Amino acid sequence: MSNKFDTIIVGLGATGSAAVYQLAKRGNQVLGVDRFSPPHANGSSHGESRIIRQAIGEGEAYVPLVLRSYELWREIEREARAELLTITGGLTLESQKSEAVMHGRPDFLDQAIRCAEKFNVRHQILETSDIRKRYPQFGVTDERAYFECETGFLRPGLCIQAQLDLGRKHGAAVHTDEIVVSIDSDGDSGVTVNTSRGAYFAEKVVIAAGSWIGRFLPSCAHLFKVYRQVMYWFEIREDHRSAFAPPNFPIFIWIFGKGGEFGFYGFPTLDGKSIKIATEQFTSTADPDHVQRAVSSAEEQAMYKDYVEGRLPGISDRCDAAASCLYTVTPDSNFVIDVHPNDDRIIIASPCSGHGFKHSAAIGEALAEQVIDGKSKIDLSSFSLKRFKDLIL
Ligand SMILES: Cc1cc2nc3c(=O)[nH]c(=O)nc-3n(C[C@H](O)[C@H](O)[C@H](O)COP(=O)(O)OP(=O)(O)OC[C@H]3O[C@@H](n4cnc5c(N)ncnc54)[C@H](O)[C@@H]3O)c2cc1C
Repeated sequence: MSNKFDTIIVGLGATGSAAVYQLAKRGNQVLGVDRFSPPHANGSSHGESRIIRQAIGEGEAYVPLVLRSYELWREIEREARAELLTITGGLTLESQKSEAVMHGRPDFLDQAIRCAEKFNVRHQILETSDIRKRYPQFGVTDERAYFECETGFLRPGLCIQAQLDLGRKHGAAVHTDEIVVSIDSDGDSGVTVNTSRGAYFAEKVVIAAGSWIGRFLPSCAHLFKVYRQVMYWFEIREDHRSAFAPPNFPIFIWIFGKGGEFGFYGFPTLDGKSIKIATEQFTSTADPDHVQRAVSSAEEQAMYKDYVEGRLPGISDRCDAAASCLYTVTPDSNFVIDVHPNDDRIIIASPCSGHGFKHSAAIGEALAEQVIDGKSKIDLSSFSLKRFKDLIL
């Protein structure tokens, strides 16, 4: 087998699997390499579900990406004959006393409403009394809410699997359990990717290594901080089970905290017995190779006491399962999708910061366009690495 390719993708999680599929579909000779066997539970793309929403509170620049992703997720579903995206409706609630900053935005809810108005996203604004009437599952006090009709969830493992399978079907080579140890671009003739099994050569390389991205960018590694996050599955009290099943219960994001500790979010039940909920922490950083994977019962109890109790009275304090996962966060909490500072044959793609999955289908397409045409149809300039030029060593 030849070790020469048009493009090599390093990392086959949300971003890398999408790039492999989109490149292979366009006839590009692509090799995807991952140190594990995706989909796996060691990075950022596991844990049953990921929220997808249209009016992006993180900023307007994300809306074209997510709207295109909705189309692509449906295309991939058709081609792979798999159910990947389920619409449930989504409620973003915010306490009037909240001083929280959500994904870098102190005005997350207002920004979502502005985006909904600008991009004609179907939505409603609910006052506290409306929320109580429509969703008595939430113990609201002074909240107002934005309800979005097309919010839903993606099944991350199936999304990655489907894109890798389709990529292979279109001719991509996919190597798993093979670690990329270095990327050399000294010569003029292409880029060399050295792995635990050999050396491969390509015109272009896309680094989509998630929480490990800093390993390939020594001068910028400090810009990508990794934080351990925990997802919990709490039991629904027996007499409340149907109230937490779709369509009775929406996906929710509840903002009430201070600073980066914004509140919590959750999903309707998928198994009829428990709901998945999570908060976010940005106080202690982690090393992706040495992160504590297990979740302690003290963490489970704290999650119940600090977030669930009093807010979701139909949910019991019994935690059926919990799993840790990794966020990769830049100084302004926004993505980095740009060429390498020293070599424009290498593209860095990091849809990190805890909200990247929903956009990954369109990011994969944009990366394929950048590789093949030199430019993507969707404007990615907001995600340029150059915005941190004063911080690059
Ligand atoms: C708890 C949690 C909840 C989230 N909720 C949401 C949500 O509701 N909605 C949403 O849109 N987003 C959400 N996100 C964010 C989203 O999941 C991430 O932005 C996205 O999964 C990141 O994808 P990625 O491809 O960058 O990283 P990953 O999917 O982690 O992929 C990186 C890949 O690179 C591989 N790799 C690393 N180093 C090497 C190497 N040296 N050689 C070969 N391979 C390598 C890894 O094995 C891995 O497979 C959440 C994240 C977490 C952790």
